[in-house]
This record gives sequence, structure tokens and C-alpha cells, in this order.
Amino acid sequence: MTNSDISDQHGSYAGHTSAADRWPAVSFEDRMGTVEFRIAPDAHIVVDSDVCRSCTTRACVMACPANLFAPTADGGILFNYEECFECGTCYLVCNGEGAITWNYPEGGHGVVLRKS
Ligand code: SF4
Ligand code: SF4
Repeated sequence: MTNSDISDQHGSYAGHTSAADRWPAVSFEDRMGTVEFRIAPDAHIVVDSDVCRSCTTRACVMACPANLFAPTADGGILFNYEECFECGTCYLVCNGEGAITWNYPEGGHGVVLRKS
């Protein structure tokens, strides 16, 4: 059975809407237009660049969906907390003991995913 067979079988009922109709494609720019970052004065994530110098994976650079980690020429990492989604991925993938200190932003700050 092919995907189109499945689609024919399940998409031909009267009144049945496809996934594309129910969740129409939204551009990254449009999605980001609904996001607001209420930036706290103090960083909620701190990266110890000295620990990063001995890191062999640099996993944070690839894993962060907001692209907030940038490798430096001297082997360290530059990090900017201001547009963080608070997803926790960097903390999970990091293999450098003590490289990342992670907290949520202080009250009233941080990402607002559906700003009104
Ligand atoms: S994965 Fe961790 S230790 Fe490696 S560069 Fe990123 S923050 Fe530093
Ligand atoms: S919590 Fe998510 S968005 Fe924020 S720095 Fe880590 S990986 Fe990037």
C-alpha cells in the first residue's frame, strides 16, 4: 500500500479535511511574528567558555533552534540569551560538565510564544 492509497482511503470521506488544510504552512517569519522576547537584565543561561574549549562535539551550536551559540576562533563559545526559546535543548546535548548553567528567566521575562 502506498501513501496515496492511504490518502485516497482516508481523505475521500465527505467533510474530511487533510492535514494541510487543518495546519496550513506558515513561514518562519510569520511564526516569529507571534513571538515576543521580554529580555531580563540578567542572563538565565550562562555558558563557561573555558569549559567549552575542551569540547569535542560543539553540539549546542547545531542543536539550538534559535542559533544562539557561536564558536570563536580561540575555541570558546559566544552565547546570547536574549532570544532564547527556553527549550532546554542546549543543556540536554551539552557534554561539558559545568559548561552551561541553566535557569528559567526571572518572573515576567522570557519568551512569549503567542503574544497578543
Ligand atoms: S556542547 Fe557544551 S561544552 Fe560543548 S561547546 Fe556547547 S556549551 Fe560548550
Ligand atoms: S534553551 Fe533552547 S533556545 Fe535557549 S539557548 Fe538553549 S537550545 Fe537555544
